[in-house]
Amino acid sequence: MTQADDEQGRDVLVLGADLAGRGPADLLIRDGSFADPADARPDADRVDAAGLVALPGLVDLHTHLREPGREDAETVETGTRAAARGGYTAVLAMANTNPVTDTAEAAEHLLGVASRVGSAQVVPVGAVSKGLEGEELAELGLMARSAARTRVFSDDGHCVADARLMRRALEYVRAFDGVVAQHAQDPRLAGRDACCAEGELSGRLGLPGWPAVAEAGIVARDVQLAELTRSRLHVCHVSTAETVDVLRWAKQRGVEVTAEVTPHHLLLTVDELTGYDPTFKVNPPLRSGEDVAALRDALSDGTIDAVGTDHAPHARHDKEHAFVDAAFGMLGLETALAVVVETMVRPGALGWGDVATRMSSVPAHIARLPGQGRPLRVGEPANLVLVDPERRSVVDRDASLSLSRNNPWHGRDLPDPMVATWWGGRRTFTRS
Ligand SMILES: [Zn+2]
Repeated sequence: MTQADDEQGRDVLVLGADLAGRGPADLLIRDGSFADPADARPDADRVDAAGLVALPGLVDLHTHLREPGREDAETVETGTRAAARGGYTAVLAMANTNPVTDTAEAAEHLLGVASRVGSAQVVPVGAVSKGLEGEELAELGLMARSAARTRVFSDDGHCVADARLMRRALEYVRAFDGVVAQHAQDPRLAGRDACCAEGELSGRLGLPGWPAVAEAGIVARDVQLAELTRSRLHVCHVSTAETVDVLRWAKQRGVEVTAEVTPHHLLLTVDELTGYDPTFKVNPPLRSGEDVAALRDALSDGTIDAVGTDHAPHARHDKEHAFVDAAFGMLGLETALAVVVETMVRPGALGWGDVATRMSSVPAHIARLPGQGRPLRVGEPANLVLVDPERRSVVDRDASLSLSRNNPWHGRDLPDPMVATWWGGRRTFTRS
C-alpha cells in the first residue's frame, strides 16, 4: 500500500503552520477538503508544522509537459511529479506538443492521461491557430465546450504575429470568458537564429541578437487589440523593462491584461551567456540587470500579476549542441518557489500572502480554475504546500524528478523550502 492509499479516509492534522503570513493555526485534511481541526479523530496523522509556512497549492500558468510526442524529454507523469515537488497542484500544459493541442479530442486525450498518472491537475492550454501555424484559428469553441473546459489559448513557442488573427482570437474567446496568452515576440524583428538579448554583449559574443522592442512592440499592439475587443489578454514570460512600461500604461487605461514573469528572468542575466553554456539559452532570452530589477519591481507592485515557470524540459541530444544550434528552454517547476523566495521574499519585496496570490490564487483566476488557488479555509479543497522559509541547499540537477537535466540552477546555493504538498487531500510530495 502506498502512502497516498494509506492516507485515504484518514484525517491529517497539520499543527501550527503560519497560514500564508497570517499567523499560526491548525489545519485538518479530511476526504480531500479542509475540515474543522476541532473535529479531528483521535487516530489522525499529526504533522508538526511549527516554523513552517502553509500556502495554497501553487498553480503554474506555463508548463511544457512534452507528452504527446517527446516522451524522452518529459511525460505527464514525470512532469506532474516535478510539479508536486515544486509545490504545484495544477499546471497549464502548453499546446506545442506533437500532435498540437488544437482540437477538443487532443485536449480531452491529455486530460485522460493526466487522470491516470498525474500528481497534479493538468489543464490543457488550447492552441490559438491550427498546428501553431499562425494562419487559421483552431477549434477554440469546441475546446472550450469539451470536457477540458479550455479557457487559456496560446501558440506559445510562437507569437501570434498576424494582427488580424490575434484580433479574431480575442473576439472569439470573449464569448466563453477565455483568455489569449501571447508569446510576445515579433518574428520580423527577432530572426530565426536570434539566441541572445541584443546589446553590447551579443556583439562581443558574436551571437545573433533579439532587440527588446520585438517583445514590447507586440505587447503594445495586443493591449490595444484587447481594449478594442474588450477581451482578456495574458502576456507570457515578460522579460524587458519596456514591456513593464507598456503593461503599466495598459492597466491604467483599464485594459483587461495580465502578465507573468519566469523565475529565471527574476534572477539570471545575459551575463550567464559568456560561457556559451546552452543551458542558459531560453526564449525570451535572459536580459540585463536593469531588466531584472524592473521585473522584480513589477511583480512586487502587481503590474506583473503572476509567476509562470515556462518549465521547458529538453533531452540531452537537443540541448547539448553549439549555443546557436541548441534548443530553447530550461527546467523550472521544482525550483520556482526557491527562486521567488531568494529574489522577492528575502529582500522584503513580497510577503507570504503576496506569494500565495502571485503563485496560486491569481494564476487560478486567470485560468478560471474553480478548485485551485482557494484560501486555506474549512470547506475548501485541500490543496496545500508546507514550506520551510529558512532551509537552503545546493541544487543538484541529478536529484530532479523531471526526465530532463537542463537545470540552470545546478550547483547554485538557493533556498530549498519544499516540505510537503497535498493535492485534493492526497499527499503528492514529501521531502525525504
Ligand atoms: Zn513562450
